[in-house]
Amino acid sequence: MNIMKKYMGKGVCGAIAIGSAHVFKRSEAVVKRERTDDCEGEKARFESAKAKALQQLGEIHQKALKEVGEANAKIFEIHMLMLEDDDYNESVNNIIDSQKVNAEYAVAVTADNFAEMFSSMEDSYMQARAADVKDISNRIIVNLADKGGESAGLPDRMIVCADDLAPSETVLLDKDRVLAFVTARGSSNSHTAILARNMGIPAVIGAGNDFLENIKEGDCIIVDGYTGEVFVSPDSVTLDAMSRRQKEDEEKRQLLQELKGKENVTLDGTRVNIFANIGGVENIGAVLLNDAGGIGLFRSEFLYLENGDYPTEEQQFAAYKKVLESMAGKKVIIRTLDIGADKKVDYFNLDGEENPALGFRAIRICLARPEIFRTQLRALYRASVYGNLGIMFPMITSVREVERILEICASVREELKAEGLEYSDSVELGVMIETPAAAIISDRLAPIVDFFSVGTNDLTQYTLACDRQNPNLEEFCDTHHEAVLRLIETAAKNAHAGGAWIGICGELAADTELTESFLRMGIDELSVSPAYVLKVRDKVRRTDLSVAK
Ligand code: PEP
Ligand code: MG
Repeated sequence: MNIMKKYMGKGVCGAIAIGSAHVFKRSEAVVKRERTDDCEGEKARFESAKAKALQQLGEIHQKALKEVGEANAKIFEIHMLMLEDDDYNESVNNIIDSQKVNAEYAVAVTADNFAEMFSSMEDSYMQARAADVKDISNRIIVNLADKGGESAGLPDRMIVCADDLAPSETVLLDKDRVLAFVTARGSSNSHTAILARNMGIPAVIGAGNDFLENIKEGDCIIVDGYTGEVFVSPDSVTLDAMSRRQKEDEEKRQLLQELKGKENVTLDGTRVNIFANIGGVENIGAVLLNDAGGIGLFRSEFLYLENGDYPTEEQQFAAYKKVLESMAGKKVIIRTLDIGADKKVDYFNLDGEENPALGFRAIRICLARPEIFRTQLRALYRASVYGNLGIMFPMITSVREVERILEICASVREELKAEGLEYSDSVELGVMIETPAAAIISDRLAPIVDFFSVGTNDLTQYTLACDRQNPNLEEFCDTHHEAVLRLIETAAKNAHAGGAWIGICGELAADTELTESFLRMGIDELSVSPAYVLKVRDKVRRTDLSVAK
């Protein structure tokens, strides 16, 4: 009899799956070093395996575009570019020529060298490219051996267990055949995790090497994408309990669906807007599916993070226009560039900093480099005629900053007018309240803006002096801390006294333990991940503010 084993990883996509394990074996060809006298022949083999890889990646890219959207599909464009990279190709050809070896070996050595080089870089984005260079090289090696693709022959309704999954492998998982996946390694910020979330496949990553060493084909396995727990060969008590939770979870989801089209109104008649947060155009489907009333936060910096260079005015215009048009007149609040701190972009060439969260980030960069800011504002204003746009500015700490921003906005509007380019006159301008300074001076800010949006993620980090990236500070990072809640309440009072409205777009907006408090503070809008819209609506509709507290 099998003894139940429990492993712990990170749940990256909520939901529970119960099924049998399929141990994912990559069709990695074993690479042997073989001497050859026909270097030209080996180089030609490499070229044709590469051409095949490019064609395969083109197909995967198309599939990804349909299933997970443009931003997530981008990685396969990057893979195609990597395959065409001169240094990569030169290295393979040089190894074949200088060592008189087979193409497989030259590709494997090149992959190791490049992966090592990427891993040793300081930038975490570049470090992540190590897995990508391995991924593309493995594809070429498989093609050289003329073996089938990695997901060929994947059984139906299985929980895929792997050491790690490359983005190309993840996107090839067929949503109808794969119940969930568990990886031994990987981080919650990896492309694999992001893809899982967007594809809606329950997943646990980083379950540890022990997990992979012990899991066997066909083992019964339970994956809890909420808690990150993985049970292998569960005992009957655990299996019953988790089956019940899975059923309840499914029932809850079904019940929430009935709230589509219903109003966000409390039992005593108080109304609130429930909007959604997005990172890119590809998330709009989820926004519409979950019946959000608008978009409360479009993190525009992802347009910059995905790009190898500054996105042009036209590129940005196209993205903003698409979001505004898709939302068909519903409010769309786009936040200007919030780069810096944990969101690094190489081409900005920013200096390293001792304390990046307290450093040169967000609006500070925009004001210091107005050409970047003006390009974004031009794109935003030009797109404004296609819907109901609000623009908000991150990391505000002073009135002077806001006055400067408003001057720049006015001058961009003047410039567009002079060029005969159209923009809407009703674009609302707002500031994020995500520093204690902004909350404290919110009485001075409210009269000069249209709205506030509270960024509780940063407001908590700066109020409680807790780096939000540091996993060791969780016990200190109390998001319900009185200091944070008082600052939100202060901002709400000052917003209304100064003629502005106020929303919350940080993660706390989805915390239903606080919904009632937020409504009592007079918060006008809660903006949450698309998947939480109906859950918050449900909470609002059960709340009665007429009952004294
Ligand atoms: C926040 O700080 O709460 C916020 C919404 O912005 P971000 O998480 O992108 O910093
Ligand atoms: Mg923030």
